[in-house]
Amino acid sequence: MTRSLAAVLADTAARRPDHPALIWDSVVVTYRQLWRRVRGVAGILRRHGTGPGDRIAVLVPNTPDFPAVYYGVLALGATVVPLNTQLRAAEIEFVLRDSGARALVCDASALEQGAPAATATGVALFTVAGEHPAAVRLDVQDSEPALADLVPVGPEDIAAILYTSGTTGRPKGAMLTHRNIVMNIEVSAVSPFAVRPDDVLLGCLPLSHTFGQTCVMGTCFSAGATLVLMRRFHAVPALELMARYGCTVFMGVPTMYHALLEAVAAGAPAPSVLERAYSGGSALPVPVLEQVRQTLGCEVYEGYGLTETSPVVAYNQPGIPCRPGTVGLPVTGVEVAVARADVEAAVELLPAGEIGEIVIRGHNVMAGYLGLPAATAAVLVDGWFRSGDLGVLGEDGYLSVVDRKKDVILRGGYNVYPREVEEVLLRHPAVEQTAVVGVPDVRQGEEVCAVVVVRDGFALDDVSAADLVAWCRERLAGYKCPRRVEFARELPLGPSGKVLKRELATRLATLKTARVTS
Ligand code: ATP
Repeated sequence: MTRSLAAVLADTAARRPDHPALIWDSVVVTYRQLWRRVRGVAGILRRHGTGPGDRIAVLVPNTPDFPAVYYGVLALGATVVPLNTQLRAAEIEFVLRDSGARALVCDASALEQGAPAATATGVALFTVAGEHPAAVRLDVQDSEPALADLVPVGPEDIAAILYTSGTTGRPKGAMLTHRNIVMNIEVSAVSPFAVRPDDVLLGCLPLSHTFGQTCVMGTCFSAGATLVLMRRFHAVPALELMARYGCTVFMGVPTMYHALLEAVAAGAPAPSVLERAYSGGSALPVPVLEQVRQTLGCEVYEGYGLTETSPVVAYNQPGIPCRPGTVGLPVTGVEVAVARADVEAAVELLPAGEIGEIVIRGHNVMAGYLGLPAATAAVLVDGWFRSGDLGVLGEDGYLSVVDRKKDVILRGGYNVYPREVEEVLLRHPAVEQTAVVGVPDVRQGEEVCAVVVVRDGFALDDVSAADLVAWCRERLAGYKCPRRVEFARELPLGPSGKVLKRELATRLATLKTARVTS
């Protein structure tokens, strides 16, 4: 029988009460203090009329208030709906209505957009800091009656509803059960010790996103380790925090690794006791992985997951041979296969070595999208979850992610996988970052276009678009080579630090630029 998500933290608090759970702004919060705060928050929420089965939205950045409120909602037997604090009022309003939220808990910094959304939807407003005439302060005092016991929930009850960012349409609420999340934490953290009780993790991924929430916060609290919180990732302060608190584990998306490498190259101190770095969320090119290993002096493990799979599906992990360029082996109890991508109504599995759509089944697959039976039926097919990603399984069972189905460029009848082109461009000494996207083209249907950020120390005159195309031509079949190269200072990033490829493609499609070569 799976424990509830709140029970995981309760157990750790009983086991390691005096161990630091959180460090933020030089303040240490022990597990005892965190658990007391969680019960206090749950007590206030209950006194103000929310209870088991309610959905409670949380608009709080990466401060110690986030875990206190997240677990407070869960302790109450309610469902937590975490929101990114970068959302605007209209976006918050959409989620509040769509999720049928009873309450919104806001940080002071998010009141400006949270309060109007709560007012417009008639949802009860709470604040963890900051005053608002319509809000109740979640100020935990000794006089408040804290929640005495965890409200019991079943493993199939919904613990969290996580909204997709909606880059491909309206945001969808992925419903994750207690079993989904707790099992995912247990199989990815506890077995072969991805996170150990004496670890110190840097919490720089947004806790509102599945990666930060479950892989960083969830596994940390399950192991009884220490989480050093950062409100928002910036490379230099991240390196300073890692040095100050002796971080042993870093989890991040590839754009964060790029930024860390750049900062170290510019003179920031490399971490001294970092042991393990986990990367996910998008592809970590092998040259970058190698550089991270050398520069940060730690082992680098790439993994693969999605919001809908709670999130971890597979990863390279301590205890198994690490295969750079792959995302490792499936986590225990989860099956991964590759199916024909062109057959959508059924899952037709392909043998090892063939590229197809990655399909997943096991304890980590979500219960469905809230209120969207057709969208749910489109992804839960024949007992499998269709990921929308293309991949290939090796004979040894290791999974490689080829690209997202929707990012594949169809140029003149050929499939071009942007990731393959990006890896080639990244081997050029002047290329710091790149994103390859398809733009509409009258002759070819789509044309391959690369956006490049040039490495510090290289002037734009040192490298031309034609140089980069020539570089690709030497290493790739002609149809895969970019016909257009644009230079940018930075790439547009989403809230979890991933490159927003569709936004980039739209911008490029409207920008009139001559072809570099034909
Ligand atoms: P949205 O919220 O718009 O759905 P998203 O698709 O990025 O955004 P997430 O659940 O955050 O949603 O991310 C899951 C996706 O991230 C996967 O479907 C896959 O495309 C990508 N991904 C995750 N890990 C890797 C990896 N190691 N290599 C390549 N892609 C990855």
